[in-house]
Amino acid sequence: MTDHTTHNEQNNNTKLTAKSSSKIAIIGGGLSGLFTATLLERKFAQHQHQHQHSNLQITLFEKSRGVGRLATRYRSDTTTGKNWQWSFGAQFFTAKTDSFQQFITPWLDSGLVQPWRAQVVNLSIANEEGQPPPIEQKEQWGTEQPRYVSTPKMTSWGRALADQLQQATIQFKTRVAPFAQYSNLQASEPTELFDDNGNSLGQFDWVICTAPNGQAAELMADSGFTNQAKIMQPKMLACYTLMLGWNDESKLPDSLKHSIDSQDIKPWDVAYLRDSILAKIFVEHHKPNHEGLLPSVTMHADNDWSEQQVDQDIDEITAQLLAAAKNALNWTEQTAPSQIDCHRWRYAATSMASNDEGDAQPLGVLVDKEQQWIVSGDWCGRGNIESCYQTAEEVVEVIAATLEV
Ligand SMILES: Cc1cc2nc3c(=O)[nH]c(=O)nc-3n(C[C@H](O)[C@H](O)[C@H](O)COP(=O)(O)OP(=O)(O)OC[C@H]3O[C@@H](n4cnc5c(N)ncnc54)[C@H](O)[C@@H]3O)c2cc1C
Repeated sequence: MTDHTTHNEQNNNTKLTAKSSSKIAIIGGGLSGLFTATLLERKFAQHQHQHQHSNLQITLFEKSRGVGRLATRYRSDTTTGKNWQWSFGAQFFTAKTDSFQQFITPWLDSGLVQPWRAQVVNLSIANEEGQPPPIEQKEQWGTEQPRYVSTPKMTSWGRALADQLQQATIQFKTRVAPFAQYSNLQASEPTELFDDNGNSLGQFDWVICTAPNGQAAELMADSGFTNQAKIMQPKMLACYTLMLGWNDESKLPDSLKHSIDSQDIKPWDVAYLRDSILAKIFVEHHKPNHEGLLPSVTMHADNDWSEQQVDQDIDEITAQLLAAAKNALNWTEQTAPSQIDCHRWRYAATSMASNDEGDAQPLGVLVDKEQQWIVSGDWCGRGNIESCYQTAEEVVEVIAATLEV
């Protein structure tokens, strides 16, 4: 053993408490949970040969059957067997930091993650009946700040991340109960978690909660979590998503075939809307590796509008969104979509809390060192996929510092 190892072991002996071994629970199997598990495994693997903490055990508890707010919906055409497909949650992601760029490199190399060089337009609502909507070029997503998609579906990456985990297991369809509901919480003891039927899920040295903040506040309520008051500082806004499909390209309205200039035969891929309750349109069959799809378009409604209508009847919302979509794309009876679906996201976008100077700042992960609980998630950052990675890095730093990993 090197001197360095001995030094660290001495530090460990003085620092370790009854709770400082390495049984870790992660609540939430979204990207925050999956990135956290992946980075924890990597961190522990790096230092395994130097330390006694070789028995890392991570359990992810996910109440649903799949990975978080990444979502893909299909519908198959019974005559052709071809699919419509909608990524009705996150559409794309950025990788602005070097470390996230490095993290995604193997997935880029394998082609599972691909840049989307989308042609982006501003679309205004047509004033006159039968007139095409005014469309102007906004930008082309390119090399300067690439946007990435996971292929063949947005959920593919989440599944691949889950498959690559070595020491972590995922328990789907397991809803963790609020901490204070069944547990006798003592800071000196490991935390015992329970499901919502009161069944024990095991005892853990660290518990990391990655649920959206409304759900995190419920989980931590009355538990004595030191940062409880901060959980609700960022506001999470709703989003309604409209999914539309057409039977083939010839049935598309002209507005969806519109190319930016006469040289360019390719139509636009992403539109930002003005004067509409719809905020953005994404043309799914234009995404990389999506060419085999039947024409499929996902539309996200404005977050403030969605939040105001969050408890409205979904059929009424669908009718309103459909009217807005018809206004924007100006379809006729012959070019109306044949497939219509709508989804309500209660927790979609993060509106960050402002500091004393009035600037919106990411909250950062919330740590209770005594209990060894961390509350994390995209909403502790800027509310996007890249934030999931950044908050996962923060979590790993906190745990590694305590364990001297
Ligand atoms: C409509 C929409 C559009 C978006 N567009 C983009 C985009 O274009 N680009 C981008 O970067 N980001 C986008 N996002 C944001 C992106 O999807 C999120 O940042 C990211 O998916 C959040 O991941 P997460 O793991 O933090 O949270 P989540 O995905 O919400 O994962 C948390 C998980 O915790 C689980 N959970 C909660 N409570 C419990 C419990 N008690 N027990 C067990 N499990 C529990 C939930 O089921 C959930 O799966 C969009 C989001 C939405 C909804």
